[in-house]
Amino acid sequence: MEKLNWDIIAGHEAQQAELRAMLRERRLPHALLFVGEKGIGKKLCGRVLAAAILCGQESPCGHCENCRGVNLGSHPDYFELVPEAKGKAAPIIHIEEMRSMQVMVSRSAVQAGRRVVLIDDAETMNEAAANSLLKTLEEPAGDVTFILIARARSALLDTIVSRCIPLSFGMLPAETVAAVLQKQGIAPDMAGKLASLADGSIGRALKLHADGGLELRDKALAFLLSLPELQLTQLWQEAAAMGEWDRQRVTEWAAYFNMLLRDLLVLYSAGDSQLLYHRDLRGRLAEFLPAFTQRQLFAMAAETREFTRRLQSNVNLRLQLEGFFIRLLDCR
Ligand SMILES: [Zn+2]
Repeated sequence: MEKLNWDIIAGHEAQQAELRAMLRERRLPHALLFVGEKGIGKKLCGRVLAAAILCGQESPCGHCENCRGVNLGSHPDYFELVPEAKGKAAPIIHIEEMRSMQVMVSRSAVQAGRRVVLIDDAETMNEAAANSLLKTLEEPAGDVTFILIARARSALLDTIVSRCIPLSFGMLPAETVAAVLQKQGIAPDMAGKLASLADGSIGRALKLHADGGLELRDKALAFLLSLPELQLTQLWQEAAAMGEWDRQRVTEWAAYFNMLLRDLLVLYSAGDSQLLYHRDLRGRLAEFLPAFTQRQLFAMAAETREFTRRLQSNVNLRLQLEGFFIRLLDCR
């Protein structure tokens, strides 16, 4: 992992400047709340801030005992709370982890003279954990800074939000996402495509990459392009092949298909390329545009939404696909 420093954060210049000013002017609040979509760098920013606080400088020096500890994830005065999955349930922050954090906070600092607690995905705190945190925020013990990270303020108790200074993080420009992907070794062409699909989230782009998202998108595109000429025999074959997929994969395929339809509608309204999900496909989609009227596209998008809804039921996948494909042909 790169050494924690401000220059490893992509984008969010205003937020970085604000945090650095707080450090410089020694007006860092007791509790901060970073709000914004997932995968845009809030946690990384929180870690850099933690390193700076423990290092005692506006920019973490990177080589003192405190910096090294945070970089290695072994600093005795730094505590990170993240959601944990127990069994098959969705990951949440449990009261037990909150309690061990409180024990740490109640003792005096071991090494840095102060402590930092970072709570990631704070919206996943269960009620007991949230109430317990609230008590700690109400009665701060010693020199401790809390950094809470959440998707939205509304996802947390008002009483917790009111004790934090909020800082909103916006989505990243596609160019910034692409640059980060390239730094991680993804080829420029692929990085550009992933970035345009990821809606400003590095995390989403990386997940897409890991899941082979572009392959699914290309399948959805090939199907869309084949629709004007599609024969019934091909339709059965297609449904039989996709009927073997797992339901989650079909759901993702349908999401891509829906995004492609939406892009065609954007092009119809003489749309600005910036609004397209699939900017790299602009030329091909524009060429294909005359194949369907706007009204047909709206009807197909409605069928796709209905199909996606029905995918949640346990009806035989192949039958669902056949039904969906036939309704799409009826839209022609
Ligand atoms: Zn340092």
